[in-house]
Amino acid sequence: MKGGSRPGAGRPTQHIKAEHCRQLDVRRLAKAQILAGGTWGWAWRNPDTGKELASIGITAWPGALVLEYMCGSDPMRDHIDITTSACHLGGTRPWFHCPRCGGRVALLYLRGGRFRCRKCHGLRYISQGLDECGRSWRKQSKLEARLGPNWRRPKGMHRATRDRLLGAIWQCEEVREDALAAYMDRIGFKGW
Ligand SMILES: [Zn+2]
Repeated sequence: MKGGSRPGAGRPTQHIKAEHCRQLDVRRLAKAQILAGGTWGWAWRNPDTGKELASIGITAWPGALVLEYMCGSDPMRDHIDITTSACHLGGTRPWFHCPRCGGRVALLYLRGGRFRCRKCHGLRYISQGLDECGRSWRKQSKLEARLGPNWRRPKGMHRATRDRLLGAIWQCEEVREDALAAYMDRIGFKGW
């Protein structure tokens, strides 16, 4: 394990909440007249300092937006379909369609260089978490195979070696606990 004794130091935690992501709200774009057409810049600013954190270019077409932005040094381009639905009090309201699943949403989030709905990003993180869990189980069973039944020290093994193996096994347990906690966080689980 890297890092100091600080809880969580060097551990692969992924406690990223949706509100920490760059997000686009179709209602805010509509209010700013951006959906009406033309090419626009859109920036995210630090709410305290007003400093620009990131920006994208938006070109509005009838029924669609093209988002252009940089991901590291790679130029990215996402095509987002827009539809409208009738409001029950009259008038219409716009919706994004997630470029991955096509789902109708008000918010798209920029994570890992792509604008996607919360669900699509969430699914990706869940499968990453499962991969992580699978890797840690495989690693743990290899470590356990070197020990005797109930993690006992086999004859001829130094105590230090056994302690090191046990430490590594506990790290595997921690990885899975973190993956579970991050998953719970993502689905908005607040406790039993
Ligand atoms: Zn989606």
